[in-house]
Amino acid sequence: VNPPVCAEKPSTPALLSPNPSYFLVLQKDPSKALVIAVTTRAIFNLEEEHKLYLEKGKEEYIRHQQANQDKPLPPGTAFAFIQAAQYVNEKILESTPAEKDLFDILVLSNNSPESGARIINSAKHYGKGNPSPGYLKSHGVKLFLSADRTDVCNALRRGEFSPPSHIRKPTTLFPSSTPLRVVFDGDAVLFSDETDKVFREQGLEGAMQYERAMEAVPMGEGPLKAFAMHLGKMRKKFSQEKSPIRTYLVTARSGRDMGIRAIKTLREWGLAIDEAFFMDGAPKGPILAQIQPHIFFDDGLHNIQGAQNVGVPSAWVPSCSAQGTEPVEGKPFGGKGRIS
Ligand SMILES: [Mg+2]
Repeated sequence: VNPPVCAEKPSTPALLSPNPSYFLVLQKDPSKALVIAVTTRAIFNLEEEHKLYLEKGKEEYIRHQQANQDKPLPPGTAFAFIQAAQYVNEKILESTPAEKDLFDILVLSNNSPESGARIINSAKHYGKGNPSPGYLKSHGVKLFLSADRTDVCNALRRGEFSPPSHIRKPTTLFPSSTPLRVVFDGDAVLFSDETDKVFREQGLEGAMQYERAMEAVPMGEGPLKAFAMHLGKMRKKFSQEKSPIRTYLVTARSGRDMGIRAIKTLREWGLAIDEAFFMDGAPKGPILAQIQPHIFFDDGLHNIQGAQNVGVPSAWVPSCSAQGTEPVEGKPFGGKGRIS
């Protein structure tokens, strides 16, 4: 049984919860766009302000934000990812000016209008779009990034913003560069956690037997499938050499026996991944350090930690327990024989 990693509690402080009083829209056509919702604390570095809010309270926080409203906030953990997504938009518009299939970035904020001016000014300072406050009736959000674990847990529990991910700050940030590089884990991220479950119940031998028996059957959808499919659709607008997007699968499955079904599933979905790495249980950190992705998604906290240690911005994708209520860490095949 996996211990729940998120306590049942309200988001604190409300300032940063994903139940925003407003959000900023940088692009507009949610029916066509690839919608990413990101909290202010994930996109901007608000650590000092967050501390001030916790220690001195809301009024002092508002006073500080008003006094500094023309001073752009420093970039946060998700900043390079969002910037690379905007670069992809530019490249798409260069080749097809009328294209509506673009990244649509929603910046979620619980700031009041008095304290929110600095956020809006910062978004304007860095952004190419013209951010305007709107009200959240959103849907079609394919990725939600928050720097607050409780936010993510609450969003998961309420079924909002599927899939929510907790973005983790690495020890050092790689310099931002293009193209946009996104790394996905396999089991319980792109794919469902069905094989993880078999492993938990029956061990590695059981999981391998299951995979052999199911070889011809594609795996179920994982929480990041919809996002990855949309990214793949954007990716197809370009030739391999000119693509502003590169996608990677870095899975702890082995390439031999456990890799076949992963490859077949991607083929069945029509999801072209630029490079796939089958780590056979080896740590993911070294390969991530080479790829230098703008973001890495994994359900295993040991992999997230490994990514953070080599300076890779990473997003933890929690999964639900059997009851579907408690977000838990994916407990993939740890240690020897780990496949997920
Ligand atoms: Mg996994």
